[in-house]
Amino acid sequence: MNTADHTVLRRFANGVHDHGRCVSGAMAKAELACAASGRRLTPLRRRVLELVWGSHLPVKAYDVLAILGQERAQAAPPTVYRALDFLQSVGLVHRIASLNAFVGCGEPQRGHVGQFLICTQCGAVAELADPALAQRVRRSAERLGFAVQRETIEVEGVCRSCRTSPVVLGPSP
Ligand SMILES: [Zn+2]
Ligand SMILES: [Zn+2]
Ligand SMILES: [Zn+2]
Repeated sequence: MNTADHTVLRRFANGVHDHGRCVSGAMAKAELACAASGRRLTPLRRRVLELVWGSHLPVKAYDVLAILGQERAQAAPPTVYRALDFLQSVGLVHRIASLNAFVGCGEPQRGHVGQFLICTQCGAVAELADPALAQRVRRSAERLGFAVQRETIEVEGVCRSCRTSPVVLGPSP
């Protein structure tokens, strides 16, 4: 596998793996990103980020709420939405608009626009950061006199493991 490809920020999960390492790696990067931008990763924000990193699948805000509500009495919806807003503003999570769900960012300290590959069968998401592609979009937009405010590219398809696996899991309803 080509690990020198810097345009891939987050791969599809490779079958069974030590996901605890993914989570601890993400938490360490989150601490660094917050320290670098002078923001505070409070216990609640940290826990919300952990829940988003619960798997490699996008997570909806109400799923975070459901788990958090069992853990702490004061996990009111606005608290969770504010925590998700914070995590987005630091670049620790991205919102996938087409799914109305969140995924953890693989490289929060690297400035990039969101480019996502979304598997329509298992729901897994990979993240790309191709600066050339982002620039082309901006240049074409400029030619139309369009000022880009937020650039997110979402591409739907089927991931390698779903294409090769004999067992096809249906999409979630
Ligand atoms: Zn993992
Ligand atoms: Zn990212
Ligand atoms: Zn898949």
